[in-house]
Amino acid sequence: MSKEPITGRQPRSRLDRRVAAGQAKAPDLVVIEPLNQWTCAGCSGSGSLLLMENGEPLCTACADLDHLVFLPAGDAALSRRARKASRLAAVVVRFSRSRKRYERQGILVEEAALQQALLMAGVPRPAAREQVRPAIERVLAAWAAPAETPGRGRSTR
Ligand SMILES: [Zn+2]
Repeated sequence: MSKEPITGRQPRSRLDRRVAAGQAKAPDLVVIEPLNQWTCAGCSGSGSLLLMENGEPLCTACADLDHLVFLPAGDAALSRRARKASRLAAVVVRFSRSRKRYERQGILVEEAALQQALLMAGVPRPAAREQVRPAIERVLAAWAAPAETPGRGRSTR
């Protein structure tokens, strides 16, 4: 009987590795800020952000992410707090043509989580709201973009 001893040294998957690295939650979703025109595989709409799922792009509404708000990168501590407080979070990336790689733009988190993070950072409530308002409004404006309501003919599998 030669059962290998469990050393905990060789995580089987990326997820395991992340968990091992102390990032308790499931890995964040990655949302792309597309450079080109695109069409949602779910509703035939479009938008400023997309999520790839099974090789097909989905808009934030079809991906059930449209209740999240965008927090631009820049304040690492704030981002970390907001992400921790948010039950659902996504990393927003954009492809840099010059650098030929995806670059992190910020994160999507629940608005309540963002508020909480701002409060924990010692920002008074009204100021907290002021600080996130531009971000929130930008996202709302961008996501209001797919104005055409999808026809009933097309079914979402
Ligand atoms: Zn859609």
